[in-house]
Amino acid sequence: MTTNVLNLSTYNFYINGEWKESQSGQTINIKSPYLNEVIGKVQAITKEEVDEAVHFAHESQKGWADTSLQERAKFLYKWADELVNMQNEIAEIIMKEVGKSLKDARNEVVRTADFIRYTVEEALHMHGESMKGDSFPGGSKSKIAIVEHVPLGVVLAIPPFNYPVNLAAAKLAPALISGNAVIFKPATQGAISGIKMIEALHKSGFPKGLVNIVTGRGSVIGDYLVEHKGINMISFTGGTNTGTHLAKKAGMIPLVLELGGKDPGIVREDADLQDAAKHIISGAFSYSGQRCTAIKRVLVHEKVADRLVEILNKEIQKLPVGSPEDGSTVVPLIDNESADFVQSLIDDALEKGATLITGNKRERNLIYPTLLDHVTKDMNVAWEEPFGPVLPVIRVTSDEEAINIANASEFGLQVSVFTKDINKAFAIVNKIETGTVQINGRTERGPDHFPFIGVKGSGMGAQGIRKSIESMTREKVTVLNLQ
Ligand code: NAP
Repeated sequence: MTTNVLNLSTYNFYINGEWKESQSGQTINIKSPYLNEVIGKVQAITKEEVDEAVHFAHESQKGWADTSLQERAKFLYKWADELVNMQNEIAEIIMKEVGKSLKDARNEVVRTADFIRYTVEEALHMHGESMKGDSFPGGSKSKIAIVEHVPLGVVLAIPPFNYPVNLAAAKLAPALISGNAVIFKPATQGAISGIKMIEALHKSGFPKGLVNIVTGRGSVIGDYLVEHKGINMISFTGGTNTGTHLAKKAGMIPLVLELGGKDPGIVREDADLQDAAKHIISGAFSYSGQRCTAIKRVLVHEKVADRLVEILNKEIQKLPVGSPEDGSTVVPLIDNESADFVQSLIDDALEKGATLITGNKRERNLIYPTLLDHVTKDMNVAWEEPFGPVLPVIRVTSDEEAINIANASEFGLQVSVFTKDINKAFAIVNKIETGTVQINGRTERGPDHFPFIGVKGSGMGAQGIRKSIESMTREKVTVLNLQ
């Protein structure tokens, strides 16, 4: 019997239902962002092994697409159950590998199981449609079109590091329930968590070859995977630069991209400032701001800016900072380069005259929560995604100014609007170029059945359970010509 673990900490890749060591003989060290030690190694697989994985996926997909929806559902339900059974073990790995608190890591696993179950239920209630010819001028009543959704084939799933289980399953589950096979390339930092998730899937008895996990650096095998002739659809979540690069390589392959963001929290002068601050703090600093939908700038009316900054500062002082093992909210960033980048944004803002309210303290890759006031449009932190715990406050004099600054961003993921005036909120909604507007709430992805959309540099296509299923199928039309 093949086993996943070679020795205490070397993880094999998963191909055709078996855990294998790569022929390359090479492994990649996975270093914990807060323990500063190697917690495991994953295989750096070869291009030939990628070819094999794609081959097995195609072989398996044919039979899988022929099975009934009810049959596929059974496997996915089992997978969800196995994830729940393994929640402690997987959460521990997520914590160690990407530095997320154990509670959040466990929530991620349980949310993933819920996601899988809901995906099954959604698919069970999705139907095609039929159309009569005579609704078009000159069309005949004897023509009937049957429009059904069929799988695309082999889906390449590439998630980022920050939700290594949830954002991976958010691609795998809709792909599988709709009859596709999957090549899953996890983020390298996050690969062990992904492997653990696949262990749960393996226990569920899915047909061999249907899901294959290919580990290796995106910079080494990424282009090869994306350009592979055997890939029929790509579902990618990650940074805007990587996504843009990938889109150019993908050619005519259907692609869904969920990319970066610079979500603003717009605080009107009539907002409940305590409530707005609560949402902004949790939006900006949870998991050190390493969330695509973190609140990454505040656009506040100058009349209430002093008061808001005072409350934000007070709330920041309450945030637990330190190790994820202690349940801290602000934890070390994923690596030192990420911390260097966040520091460079803080330094640039301070050099250009921003006011430091709190923070700007660093221990290795741990950046203390930093609040910058009087941030202006010439500062990089006004526009760039830090993916770290720094919150710039930009003071505005009107809703129009806030809208203009929000829309000037290259990103368009989400926007929060804090106000007591629902009419004013909708006036802003109507002018904002973004995927989602949250009224009086923090920017966030869930609940997972809501459509999740990034516009401009934040993505292409839509996610959210039903949307994801639709994106992994195509419509096929059969026309019945009655005599
Ligand atoms: P990233 O550096 O862009 O990496 C994302 C994934 O792409 C990883 O699996 C990476 O593999 C892979 N990759 C790298 N180069 C590739 C290539 N040439 N071809 C194919 N794949 C390649 O992003 P990250 O640092 O992991 O995640 C942070 C970013 O993700 C942020 O910008 C955040 O906003 C965004 N994000 C967006 C959403 C959303 O739903 N909109 C959700 C979460 C995160 P390696 O790890 O091996 O390099």
